[in-house]
Amino acid sequence: MMMVMDYRSLFAAALGLTPPWQVLDIQFSADQNRLDIWVGYPTGSTFDCPACGHVGASVYDTKEKTWRHLNFFQYRTYLHARVPRVKCPYGCGVKQITVPWARPGSDFTLLFESLIMLLAQDMPVKAIAELVGEHDTRLWRILEHYVEQARAKEDYSNVQEVGVDETAAKRGHDYITLFVDLDACRLIFATPGKGKETVDAFAKDLREHKGDPNAIKTVCCDLSPAFIAGVKSAMPQAQLVFDRFHVMKIINEAVDEVRRDEARQNETLKKTRYIWLKNPQNLTAKQRKKLESLKNEHLDTMRAYGLKLSFQEFFDQPDRESGEQHLKRWYFWATHSKLVPMIQAAYTIKDHWEGILNWFNSKVSNGILEGLNSLIQAAKARARGYRNSKTLITIAYIITSRLDYGLPRLCLC
Ligand SMILES: [Zn+2]
Repeated sequence: MMMVMDYRSLFAAALGLTPPWQVLDIQFSADQNRLDIWVGYPTGSTFDCPACGHVGASVYDTKEKTWRHLNFFQYRTYLHARVPRVKCPYGCGVKQITVPWARPGSDFTLLFESLIMLLAQDMPVKAIAELVGEHDTRLWRILEHYVEQARAKEDYSNVQEVGVDETAAKRGHDYITLFVDLDACRLIFATPGKGKETVDAFAKDLREHKGDPNAIKTVCCDLSPAFIAGVKSAMPQAQLVFDRFHVMKIINEAVDEVRRDEARQNETLKKTRYIWLKNPQNLTAKQRKKLESLKNEHLDTMRAYGLKLSFQEFFDQPDRESGEQHLKRWYFWATHSKLVPMIQAAYTIKDHWEGILNWFNSKVSNGILEGLNSLIQAAKARARGYRNSKTLITIAYIITSRLDYGLPRLCLC
């Protein structure tokens, strides 16, 4: 069915067509649930040469192409056009022009791709694929294209404070490592693996984006030997700061080990695991009562817990000097506690002394990184896992990098 002229101008405006492009015809088929829009240009139209930009290139031949566009209400909408190849009057030869509504090689309009990028922020790709009725591998190709293109334009010349951590791509294995700009609160690099090579890959990527590994002042990470070795060799100027949550994890694990050993002979410690892992102010009334009842039992676990609370006070010290004094006293107490797991934890602290004290210089922690990581983990849970680390990395960038895709803005409000 042919529609009246007004509709054509309306659709031309909605599609953002610029002369000589215009809507030629619109066909609406309710039973096939689709809307087809034919776009073209008047005979004799000329185009800008795609190679040199000069105006006045005449049409040499054309090729018919179809693009999937945003649904018009519930109707699947397709755009059709004969895309011209033009002959440049300035000697560039015969070139295919780029249409204003789609990027070269794509079967979707820019607005459709814009919608996919927007939905991918919150929805699993499989669910988007069902919603729009396309196979998810086609959508992944869109996502990967825009992430790659947007990352190519990124400028990391101002990056100075970096947080590093790994995250599991699948259950328990297959890791990716995230590098976060702690000032800008965004992911700047993600790569498969969790070894030293990930730091080398980051340094290389930094250089490819106008950054300089020698300009990195601070790197905040966990106590993994691979990250430490990687930072020392790839970013020798950077000060290593061990993330406070990972430092506390070492102490908490030691306390838990003391509790487990002791619980084998002591019934009263049954079901108390979380009491020792929490901070006193976070205990429930019941847990607090239980902790109170254990105070006079002369438990090793209670002493280990005391060591943990004391260690925590390190982070409340006013400056590095008081911090170091506190840490020295703690180290003496811990190494004389006769609690093997606590003594071992103290040795680990000693081995990472400077990096732990460096916390006072910048007070950075990977709290930002943990926050971004939890967004990635939530996306992973919604998607029920990702096929491989590549897909997880793409989604991680989409969710936590705030990349500029240069796409037309879609407002869904
Ligand atoms: Zn030309």
